[in-house]
Order: sequence, then C-alpha cells, then structure tokens
Amino acid sequence: MSNSLENITEPLLTWFAANKRSLPWREDREPYHVWISEIMLQQTRIEAVKKYYIRFLKELPDVECLSQISEEQLLKLWEGLGYYSRARNLKKAAEKIMQEHGGVFPSTYALLRELPGIGEYTAGAIASICFNEKVTAIDGNVLRVISRITGSKKNVLLPETKKEVEKQLLNILPEQSGAFNEALMELGEILCLPNGTPECEQCPLQSECTAYQKNMTEEIPVRIKKMKRTKEEKTVLLLVNENHQIAIEKRPEKGLLSGMYQFPNLLGFYSKEELSSLLKGWQLTPIEISLLKNAKHVFTHIDWYMKSYLIKVKTISDKESESTPELSRLLWVSKNELAEKYPLPTAFQIFYVYLSY
Ligand code: SF4
Repeated sequence: MSNSLENITEPLLTWFAANKRSLPWREDREPYHVWISEIMLQQTRIEAVKKYYIRFLKELPDVECLSQISEEQLLKLWEGLGYYSRARNLKKAAEKIMQEHGGVFPSTYALLRELPGIGEYTAGAIASICFNEKVTAIDGNVLRVISRITGSKKNVLLPETKKEVEKQLLNILPEQSGAFNEALMELGEILCLPNGTPECEQCPLQSECTAYQKNMTEEIPVRIKKMKRTKEEKTVLLLVNENHQIAIEKRPEKGLLSGMYQFPNLLGFYSKEELSSLLKGWQLTPIEISLLKNAKHVFTHIDWYMKSYLIKVKTISDKESESTPELSRLLWVSKNELAEKYPLPTAFQIFYVYLSY
C-alpha cells in the first residue's frame, strides 16, 4: 500500500525553517517582490535570476514604477532573461493593478488569476506566501515530491494528475500554507532531485516516502509526453512488368523502418496523368494504370494516408535498369521472392492482395 501525506507537514516545515536557502526575494514577503521573482524563475535558473532580480528592483522598486516604464526600457532591463512576453505581461499587470486596484496588490488567489501572465501556480505561490491563503502552488518539483511519497505512477504531465495532487495537498495544508508550499518546492529543488538521483539520506520525509522505501525513485515520477502526430500523404506504386515481376526498393539505413524493403512511393497524392509522365521520366513505359483502394497505416507518432496504383509496365533490360537514378534503385522480384526473401513492413503488406496475377 502507498503512503499517505498525513505526517509530512511537521517534519517538512521544521526542515525548511532550518535549511532554506537565503535568496534575495526571501528577505521579505512583499507581493511585488515575490511576483517578480516567480515570473523570472519560470524559465530561468535561480543562480542566473539573482542578479537580474536585484537590478530590476533597483530600477523599478514598486508596481507604480513598473506601470510607467516604457516598453523599450523594460525590454532592455529584461535583456538576457529571454521569453520577453513575460516582461510585457508584468507591465500590463502593473497597469491593471494601478487602474483597477488603486495601486494595491491584489491579495486573493482569484484576483491574482485575473492579472495578465499570472497562472495557477504563480497565483497560488503569491496568495499563500504573501497572504497565507490556503491554496496550493504546484510546480514540477511539487509533483515529483508528492508522487514519490505516495508511490503514484500516474503521469505527472496530465492535468488530472495535477488535480489529484491538489486535492491531496488541500487536505493537509496547514495554516502556514506559504511556508508549506515553499518547503515542498525547496525539497524538490535541493533534495528530491529528478532523474533518479534524490538525496534521500538527508530527506526529512524518508520514513513517509514510498519511492524511497520500495527503491522506486528512478521510476517515479512517471512523465509520458504525448507525441504530436504527423500526417503524411503518399502515393504507392505497384509496378509490375510483363514478366510478372514487381518493383521494390530498400528503405534508408536510418529512420523509420530502416533497412527494410518497400514498394516505390512518392510524397503526396498523384493523379494517373501525373504518374504517367513521371514514369516516362524514369524511362519506364506504362501499359495500364489502375487506381486501387486508399489505405492508412498508423505508426506511434505518424499516420500514413496512402493512395495506390497498380501499374503494368514494359519489361526493361538489365542495361536499361541503370539508365536513371530512380530505376537503378529498383529491384524486380517475383511474388515468391518477395514473400520469402525481402522484409516488407506491415504498412506495405496490405498491398499483397493486389498481386494476384
Ligand atoms: S525520501 Fe527521497 S524520494 Fe522520498 S521525498 Fe525524500 S528525497 Fe524524495
């Protein structure tokens, strides 16, 4: 059975009080300071952020200054941090605070979420750290720590996993919600490291941690990225000569289905007329071209949509078979040879039915 989170609060807060790193934005709990640091930290390492943070606050010490700076000056100040939309959103949010909140920083999660550039995590961090609102602030560090403690093998990249972690944390969130949220993030950043290298021997939550006890820190957290599917349209040519031999070619040595054989095929969909002139360019003489049924093959992250033709062509001599680069790639084989000698991927095996001559 996996461990629950009930007993982690006290040891975690005690550990945090004694071990937290001293960082410029931790010197006070000013929402403006926490906000700027959280936005800078979104895409940049802590060490790199320190100097930018100090410089930024020196130039723009409060919301009002930020709201008034020109975009050009702001971007100059942000130079080196990258992802400039973050800086533009800071200015827009500062303007909104000045116009709609009379310059007073919004103090609830709900109001913070209405500001440009402030998502669930940042709103949770500011609301809990600065105003002790009982809300969570879940980033990748928190997801990793909680998954390891509970022994959860759910994919942390899915929104439903985050929702579940949020529910579990809301059940145990103490009055010092800000310190608790920060402590979890800090533990994830300095002890419960990713990629199977956590410093469990120094961890205050060792006795509560399923991944540690079951030696599963390498497997947890589970991160499965949904691959973007690509669609590829092809025209497959079943070229059959007067000796009933069919043309095949070897696929490249690298990449998808490497080293296997295939029927010659072209990217995109071709009409009969287009094919006819293309084949003549290859020095082949088509006798008859018949359109076959469309086919589809699904790979892990790519879908092939295949239009196909059965094309009877004049037999060419050995000498002619070297006359163009396209022809020299082709091997003319009998149906039996094809079945016995040449590995043909499943994607092309669907065309066997048309070779019933
Ligand atoms: S015991 Fe190890 S795996 Fe478990 S929370 Fe602590 S550092 Fe992470």
